[in-house]
Amino acid sequence: MAELEGLEFGKSDFVLLDEVSMEQFMENLKLRFEKGRIYTYIGEVVVSVNPYRQMDMYGKDSIEAYRGRELYENPPHLYAVSDAAYKAMKRRAKDTCIVISGESGAGKTEASKYIMQYIAAITNPSQRAEVESVKNVLLKSNCVLEAFGNAKTNRNDNSSRFGKYMDINFNFNGDPTGGHINNYLLEKSRVVQQQEGERNFHSFYQLLRGSSDEILESLHLQNDPALYACTKEGTSNNDRSSHRAVMNALQVIGFSKEEINSIYQILASILLLGNVQFESDGESVQILQLEAVNHISDLTATDPESISKSLLYRTVATGGGEVIEKGHTEQDACFGRDAFAKALYERLFGWIVGRINSVIEVKNYNPVLHGKNTVIGVLDIYGFEIFDNNSFEQFCINYCNEKLQQLFIELILRQEQDEYQREGITWQEIDYFNNQIIVDLVEQPHKGIISILDEACLTAGKVTDMVCLDSMDTKLAQHPHYTSRKLCPTDKTMDFKKHFRIRHYAGDVTYSVEGFLDKNKDLLFQDFKRLMYNRFSSSPFLKEMWPDGQLSITEVTKRPLTAATLFKNSIVALVDKLACKEPYYVRCIKPNEMKSPVLFDDARCQHQVAYLGLLENVMVRRAGFAYRQPYARFLQRYKMTCEYTWPNHLMASDREAVEAIITQHGFQDDVAYGQTKLFVRTPRSLFTLEQERAAL
Ligand code: ATP
Ligand code: MG
Repeated sequence: MAELEGLEFGKSDFVLLDEVSMEQFMENLKLRFEKGRIYTYIGEVVVSVNPYRQMDMYGKDSIEAYRGRELYENPPHLYAVSDAAYKAMKRRAKDTCIVISGESGAGKTEASKYIMQYIAAITNPSQRAEVESVKNVLLKSNCVLEAFGNAKTNRNDNSSRFGKYMDINFNFNGDPTGGHINNYLLEKSRVVQQQEGERNFHSFYQLLRGSSDEILESLHLQNDPALYACTKEGTSNNDRSSHRAVMNALQVIGFSKEEINSIYQILASILLLGNVQFESDGESVQILQLEAVNHISDLTATDPESISKSLLYRTVATGGGEVIEKGHTEQDACFGRDAFAKALYERLFGWIVGRINSVIEVKNYNPVLHGKNTVIGVLDIYGFEIFDNNSFEQFCINYCNEKLQQLFIELILRQEQDEYQREGITWQEIDYFNNQIIVDLVEQPHKGIISILDEACLTAGKVTDMVCLDSMDTKLAQHPHYTSRKLCPTDKTMDFKKHFRIRHYAGDVTYSVEGFLDKNKDLLFQDFKRLMYNRFSSSPFLKEMWPDGQLSITEVTKRPLTAATLFKNSIVALVDKLACKEPYYVRCIKPNEMKSPVLFDDARCQHQVAYLGLLENVMVRRAGFAYRQPYARFLQRYKMTCEYTWPNHLMASDREAVEAIITQHGFQDDVAYGQTKLFVRTPRSLFTLEQERAAL
């Protein structure tokens, strides 16, 4: 907590503010941003403001400065928190996690990479080859995941369009032995459609721009993204060099030549599929680009007739157990094609993650021989989203943020209370907005929005989005955080007839119900699944991606879970995983919308501070005891400020020696003595001690 930087840079910990008010908070945040101090603490939480410029603070020297040190010994940094999580893991055998949150473009992914780099840099001092290789794969996996899971959006040129949670496993030496990646809700709708000014996933452009003519020819492609419906939007940036980096990363991770080839064949198939169009003569529907179909057949090792058939017909089992082929309308055919393209990409992405996991999973670990296997988890997941037009994806993402906020409240409060209890100290709980009520609105069985959506999806016949909205409006009319369309304000610019609104902890979001049911059903005709899992296919990887294609049409009786329910289940599992770990938080703030390194947009920043609950965080931290330190450490740091303890004390215990320091300075009323630590209520006392120490 030492003010190592001097006061002209503002307070390095918001707990040190003279008064906890939004004004003071913002003033300090702005001052620090302007002085190039992008990190500030709230106790152990790091608040980070995206500098939008290269900072000279991540090099080897910095790593050395933070290695093994305590939080207060250096200026605030991601490295300090990474080290704290690492120490907790190594010294106390605690599983820890670092949760990084903030809106799109706030710097989450960059932060997660610095954290991983730091951990990689401080481990394996003896340079053991197998550990080095694990570290290498962990670091290289970021490059691959970004290529396939990130895209240029209007908010961020390199926006993660999926959530990522990565566990890093450590052996008793504290060296990485492996890891595991969980991915959440890839925004697959982007494969077939992008908003104006946005791009598809980087991987497509990298393939087209970065591959040799020879490779492109073998994939039936040309090197111009403008030729493909999926990629015609968006200009190129550094796709060529990124392609080289991704190829290298894939090889380092251990993807075989055949696997890499298959990945690019699938990407090419999606690009070609996007160009397939249909024509209807009123009776039947035809494919206009048969050449593209032939190429897809070559790339996926399937026969062209089967592809055409899957695009134009679907097989359905009648009530009597009969199997018939039903011709698509032109609209159905387009829907089927898009669903197929999206599913191909989603499954490819899932398969790549699974393949990386198979390389980094901990093998041959024997806890009896090797001691406890501990974990540091790093969560980099999409932040709260409010767009002009909010759809099913934003609904899921914002629900996820409600869950994480709930966890933040639970853990920050619980952690505090646990510590006070353990140390035998009494404290008063403080008031906090509890967002459980919003979580319930979304996920409660039978009554929540997800249940209502699922019910509509399961009802036979044509339940429309509007019927579903009716049902929500009726069932949720009384809920304090739900506004039915009748009550949504009549804004001329928007057609509120199709909307509902949720009062989220981070603000009001109006969702358009249009497309909710389709996205929730996430229907993909079984014919495509069987097409990809076909016994004649020479691609073993496609088979791995489409195991559900094994089922024959009469076997497909169970309805698959809906997209919202699958997502909910994965987030509940994630929260469970995080809840049993010691948490560290990085709260990222985006200073402006222009990606400018000098602009601090007060209103935008204040909004983020408000919804991230940072002010409440400072209050909680100060309501109890702002600072706590083990007696020995406190003594070590301040013994020179007291005649009874300098250079060494003769008292029975460190605790008594600390009491002597505190009493000499007259701080008795400001502290409490725990079992192992000194608790300091206001930061002022430590401040004084720091100043005295510095003056000596
Ligand atoms: P999304 O939710 O869209 O994935 P994000 O929070 O992950 O957003 P990042 O991709 O990490 O945001 O950051 C956006 C951009 O901001 C980066 O591409 C980089 O240009 C810049 N940036 C973020 N953090 C830093 C940093 N510490 N130093 C320099 N530039 C940064
Ligand atoms: Mg990101």
